[in-house]
Amino acid sequence: MISRRKFIKTSLAATTLAALNLEASANEPKWDKEFDVLIVGSGLSANVAGIVLAEAGLKVALIEKMSRLGGNSVISQLDFACVGSDEQVNAGIKDSIELFVKDLNKAGKGFNDVAQSLRIAENSKRSYEFVKARGVKFASKLKHLGGHSVARSLETEGGGGAFVQTLNSHFESKGGASLKRVKADEIIFDESGKVAGLKVREGYKFDKSLADDDLQNTAGDVKFYKANKAVIFASGGYSADKAFKAA
Ligand SMILES: Cc1cc2nc3c(=O)[nH]c(=O)nc-3n(C[C@H](O)[C@H](O)[C@H](O)COP(=O)(O)OP(=O)(O)OC[C@H]3O[C@@H](n4cnc5c(N)ncnc54)[C@H](O)[C@@H]3O)c2cc1C
Repeated sequence: MISRRKFIKTSLAATTLAALNLEASANEPKWDKEFDVLIVGSGLSANVAGIVLAEAGLKVALIEKMSRLGGNSVISQLDFACVGSDEQVNAGIKDSIELFVKDLNKAGKGFNDVAQSLRIAENSKRSYEFVKARGVKFASKLKHLGGHSVARSLETEGGGGAFVQTLNSHFESKGGASLKRVKADEIIFDESGKVAGLKVREGYKFDKSLADDDLQNTAGDVKFYKANKAVIFASGGYSADKAFKAA
């Protein structure tokens, strides 16, 4: 009987490997909602992942803890660094993936992930064409921003707000769901160690008066969302983590 299968629950703060060292500790929850893929976050990364999956016909939900979609992406200018854009070619600017990687690594002062720098540079043109094909508009001028050896940044019309809104509308037009005020709290694993879904809180209300909202805020109703194929974390970085930034 599936209801008797043992399930492992673990905090999002724990790594997957650590989680796999835990003993199975709970029965499979009663699932409240079911999707093929759950994506935590609703910024640029979440929307791009959501579009790829929704266009492939999967039932996908973005889960966003805040009352508005878009995370840091909507407050960013989202100037888009791209090697080999038509704008660079037309302006006769000589650029290369190697030069972009060199710039990224120099800006990272040795702290950045070199393999990721290469992925960013190698995929910049493909990413630029992906978002343009889905309605994101860019001004035709090139910008030479600080830290870049050559002019390679394209200005998004309307900044991050327009960027994310355009992608999110496209995602929803393909059947994707964007769920606001839903906070992902725990990954639920099945007995084989495979990710089965998420424990979330619906009706979550971010409280900026708390020293650490993540640890102290208990708002919302606990629900269990099943993910038949995958859970993706596109939950951003640390820029709103005051304690981490202060350390
Ligand atoms: C002021 C500013 C200007 C910038 N300018 C540029 C620029 O010009 N060019 C450029 O390339 N980059 C720029 N950046 C950086 C860029 O905005 C970020 O790298 C990018 O937006 C990150 O997107 P993301 O989708 O990974 O994360 P985000 O957009 O931050 O989205 C993450 C989302 O996950 C949600 N979330 C987190 N945890 C949970 C949880 N447990 N449950 C549910 N939801 C959760 C968050 O609420 C958030 O909405 C700028 C950043 C800032 C702040």
